[in-house]
Amino acid sequence: MYSFYSSNELKPKGWLLQQLKIQAEGLSGNLDKVWRDVRDSGWLGGDAESWERFPYWLDGFIPLAYLLEDKEMISRAKYYVSRMVALQRPDGWICPCSDEQIPKYDTWVIYLVTKVLLGYYECSRDESIVKVIYDILKNYYTLLSSGKISLFGWGKARWFECFIALDFLFERYREQWMADLAKILQEQGTDYRKLVDRWKRPMNYWRYETHIVNMALMLKTEAVTHNMLNGEYKGSAEYFYDILYRYNGTPVGIFTGDECLSGLSPIQGTELCSVVDEMYSIEKLFAVTGDYKWAERLELIAFNALPATISDDMWTHQYDQMSNQIACIRFPGRSLFRTNNSEAHIFGLEPSYGCCTANFHQGWPKFALSAFMKDRDKIISVIPVPSALDDEGINIELVTDYPFKNTLKYIIRTDKDFKFVVRIPSFAENITINGNKTEKTPEISFELTAGDNTEIIISFDTLPYFENRPYGLKTVKCGSLVFSLPVEYEKKMHEYVSNNVERKFPYCDYEYIPRSTWNFGFADGKLKVNRKEISDIPFSSSAPPVTVTVKMAEIDWGLEDGFESVCAKIPESTEPIGEEREMQLYPYGCAKLRVTEIPFVNIK
Ligand SMILES: [Zn+2]
Repeated sequence: MYSFYSSNELKPKGWLLQQLKIQAEGLSGNLDKVWRDVRDSGWLGGDAESWERFPYWLDGFIPLAYLLEDKEMISRAKYYVSRMVALQRPDGWICPCSDEQIPKYDTWVIYLVTKVLLGYYECSRDESIVKVIYDILKNYYTLLSSGKISLFGWGKARWFECFIALDFLFERYREQWMADLAKILQEQGTDYRKLVDRWKRPMNYWRYETHIVNMALMLKTEAVTHNMLNGEYKGSAEYFYDILYRYNGTPVGIFTGDECLSGLSPIQGTELCSVVDEMYSIEKLFAVTGDYKWAERLELIAFNALPATISDDMWTHQYDQMSNQIACIRFPGRSLFRTNNSEAHIFGLEPSYGCCTANFHQGWPKFALSAFMKDRDKIISVIPVPSALDDEGINIELVTDYPFKNTLKYIIRTDKDFKFVVRIPSFAENITINGNKTEKTPEISFELTAGDNTEIIISFDTLPYFENRPYGLKTVKCGSLVFSLPVEYEKKMHEYVSNNVERKFPYCDYEYIPRSTWNFGFADGKLKVNRKEISDIPFSSSAPPVTVTVKMAEIDWGLEDGFESVCAKIPESTEPIGEEREMQLYPYGCAKLRVTEIPFVNIK
């Protein structure tokens, strides 16, 4: 069982720091200035949304501010937390609603607010916040145990989220009411083990139990509750993940859901909230299990699905991303998506619905906080992204361009003995340590002693390959990067006001209109990786840090029935209709319009 470092101990460096700076200069650092549902939130006494949106934003904004050591952002974070805390009543209730509204107030937000406040405590070490969290949950227990309220809606579907803060309190205080609250939540909350059959066949209606964000959150149920409920972790997440992946998996480690589970089609969408929430669930799962599979799954989402669905400047995002996405144009008629509207795939301020606008900010900061973890006198390099760790006398800096290049240089200075473990990805080949070849291995350990001042250079190769996808299609992968055929496009900007929400540059809407042909099949099995320098935008859509060269030929792919801007789910033909040509594949995260699941052409 590993624990996380705080933003005071672990800092991003290199491309990861640059990514977080872009995020701070984009919507994440400015949402409270430009978006009514945060600026005029009920949490601030305003007349806009009074529920999840303000705390959602803080969940990412707070760690982002502290990771960047940005004084202005930190003072804003402190101010907003103080405004929230000022709402707390003597009985502990904190949410902005009247007494009469409490029984109908969906208490999922209590889980979210206590998670946000715990995150703030971990950054600020402000002990008064622990009392605020204590009083919120004690009051919640009083309301639930007296029958004045009960779980329904999101509060019922996401009951385990309460354990993020509750387990923290329980470890500190061990009070009986905490254990009782845990039992009430489990009894009244959704038992997903009884619902897995519903994940095997997409349905065209909206349900809590197949809702994609609930699926992403639910993966960590046992990881966050076992300490208080069962005592040991038994592996239910592995079972849930296998079924979700088998019936709804994408090449980039997320599940389709637009916005409930949507099967294996490469043209169904995945909601951005589920991308960042699946990442956070997996971070918790790795910490609890130490199972390297989770670390690899986390990389796959962070290096592909997350950057793909947010613009280079991080001012705009999609609600739904698709694996084969040849255009992001509003559908003039019915929507392709199961329950999301016809603009859910355009890049904008709040396409389809504003939850992702508020929630996506946690993705990169919490990922950055998962680079290193610790277990007593052992420190592990979990995700080898550029970072610097300062753990009471132990300093480790990791200099690397991973995942774009595969050399990891650890610069270590220590005043005490400790065991240092580096996770080696399963796809690493030709591994060397300080220039010496070593066997393929899941981890490399070093015993460091006080006074050591050393450098460890680990290097490996990642080889490109074709992965099988449903419907006879293939996807190119190399290490944790997925590669897509990029489609050139023109951006059409839309500035307008609707429902009192202003879309104005740079936080306006954009449609991406394709300007190059996209209907290709792979013509041979040879793949060549080309590594370049990382630009100022790590996942740049115009200057990607890695490409893959492959021969392709045009095929008669066709369009999906009833849609002018969506490729057919399965190509109509795989007969080549043009000459073979050499094409460049981009990382999925760089290719805003792309074809990722592609057939081989028929070769005579
Ligand atoms: Zn969302």
